[in-house]
Amino acid sequence: MLLRSRVVLPITQPPIDDGAVWISGNRIQAVGRWKDLRSGAGEPAIDLGESLLLPGLVNAHCHLDYTDLAGEIAPTKLFTDWIKTITTAKAGRIYADFAQSWVRGAQMLLRRSLAGDAAARFFVSRNDRRQKPPRTAFDS
Ligand SMILES: [Zn+2]
Repeated sequence: MLLRSRVVLPITQPPIDDGAVWISGNRIQAVGRWKDLRSGAGEPAIDLGESLLLPGLVNAHCHLDYTDLAGEIAPTKLFTDWIKTITTAKAGRIYADFAQSWVRGAQMLLRRSLAGDAAARFFVSRNDRRQKPPRTAFDS
C-alpha cells in the first residue's frame, strides 16, 4: 500500500511536502516524496488529499500516585465519573500515602521493564525531595 499525503511528517527528518509512505505487509518500507515512491512501490496508492500523515502518537505516562488505588476504583461508564471517583479517593490521602504509592509504583516499573527503570529512578529521586505531591490537572 502506498499512502500519499499533502505533508508527511516523519519526525526523524523535516516534513515532506507531497509525501508518501510505502507499507508492505505490516512494515513501512519507505518514506519520501510521492514522485520518488509512486512508481517503485508497485502497490495500490491511496491519496489522503489535504492531510498531514504522521506516526501514531502514544500517550506514554503513568500515575504512580494511583498505584495504591489499584482495585479501589470500580469501572465507570463515563470518564467524568471516573475522575470524580478517583478525586474523592485521593482526597482522603496525605503526602505520606502518595509517597508510598510512588515508591510501590516505581518498584513495579523496576520489576517489569528496563524502560521503567530509568523512569522510576528519575521519578523517585525527584519526588523524594518534594514536600507535597505534585498537582495534576484533576486536583481541585
Ligand atoms: Zn494521566
